[in-house]
Amino acid sequence: MLTMEHATTTPVRSDSSLGPAPNIVVPPPGPRARAAVERDRKVTSTSYTRDYPLVARRGSGSVVEDVDGNRYLDLAAGIAVCATGHCHPRVVAAIQDQAAGLIHICGSDFYYEPMIALCEKLAGLVPGSERQRVFLCNSGTEAVEAAIKLARYASHRKGIVAFHGAFHGRTMGALSLTSSKARQKLSFAPLIPMVAHAPFGSIDGIVNQIFRQQMVPEEVACIIVEPIQGEGGYVFPPGEFLPALRELCDRHGILLILDEIQTGMGRTGKMFAFEHAGIVPDIVCLAKGIASGMPIGALIARESLMNWPPGAQGSTFGGNPIACAAALATIELIESQYMQNAARVGPHLRQHLQRLSDRHACLARPRGLGLMCAVDVVDANGKGDPAQRSRIITAAFERGLILLPCGEIGIRFVPALSIEPSQIDAAMDVLDNAIAACTA
Ligand code: PLP
Repeated sequence: MLTMEHATTTPVRSDSSLGPAPNIVVPPPGPRARAAVERDRKVTSTSYTRDYPLVARRGSGSVVEDVDGNRYLDLAAGIAVCATGHCHPRVVAAIQDQAAGLIHICGSDFYYEPMIALCEKLAGLVPGSERQRVFLCNSGTEAVEAAIKLARYASHRKGIVAFHGAFHGRTMGALSLTSSKARQKLSFAPLIPMVAHAPFGSIDGIVNQIFRQQMVPEEVACIIVEPIQGEGGYVFPPGEFLPALRELCDRHGILLILDEIQTGMGRTGKMFAFEHAGIVPDIVCLAKGIASGMPIGALIARESLMNWPPGAQGSTFGGNPIACAAALATIELIESQYMQNAARVGPHLRQHLQRLSDRHACLARPRGLGLMCAVDVVDANGKGDPAQRSRIITAAFERGLILLPCGEIGIRFVPALSIEPSQIDAAMDVLDNAIAACTA
């Protein structure tokens, strides 16, 4: 619980209209938050993984206010979703305008301007000599599901290669590719056949363990990869990995699918993380940051690949007009200023993480690209310490900082791309205090 001597961080002013943060007026969870959690506990699925009792009431920029009036700096952004910050006025206006005009008509059956405009926009973002086509859905897992179907349809092959530590979603197809935590798959087998996993970052693993021992390359429809593994623990592959993967796919006629659901939309300082590697994928999966929190996912592929017949794929809600309008406003903000801000503020955040790791022996391996950063929590022997990780995240929450874990021992830092350096400074002060309290 928070005591007054913990509240040492000076709140900073920011892009937010909610006032300075952090500002803890009642030790969280306050009475309203406790009551909400109690009600929630009785009716929501037991599968949710809440790490601490934040009960959010409203958000603005990188600031979130809870139901008891506490204000937090948010370095999680709804799991890397609220790219433009909470409730950016231009995104809110786009949603309100669209909601007043047309909420739903179904893009699988009819036409409407925001869907056409968004598909034009997304198609233009992916580099390559050929024109791109776009399929819109509602989430990341649906984009991956559609990618599996498109790869099998277009290649007339069945095999899929994914990587150990990968996270691609939780529907049965996407779950078959996911390999980050065993409990995500517990009791759900049988999953889809003809899926093999290789060590992340290694071409040798694919060639020697999969192509030699499990399925020949001529049977493999696609290789799906996160350019930086997200849920698996913010794992960065060696720099030569993606170009080598591209080359391997070209050699064997295998489609390369880039899951940019967490890394894309400006998060790493470029629109897509694969751009840092100088490669062009065959298929791109997007979701999370596209629409600042409105549910939408996208599958983008060359027009010579996306030529499946009417009815092969569709969605009642996918690309609904409000989500499209929010996405168009979001992309304009990302392109005009926030992607550049991610590239500028990211190194500032990493310097802080390095300094904190130098100061606190329990932090190791500060890393990141743009505003996709992480640090691991370890014990005195340098071994991963998940319990201490949880204590630090909870202590940060009690002091007004919203963080999320990643992998078994990581803390991730994925703020809004609009975050200001002064907000990062204040957040790192809070983290410093939280770690000191947990290691005292
Ligand atoms: N792929 C990646 C890389 C992700 O990080 C996630 C979600 O965390 C997904 C797929 C699944 O996305 P969703 O939760 O929107 O279904």
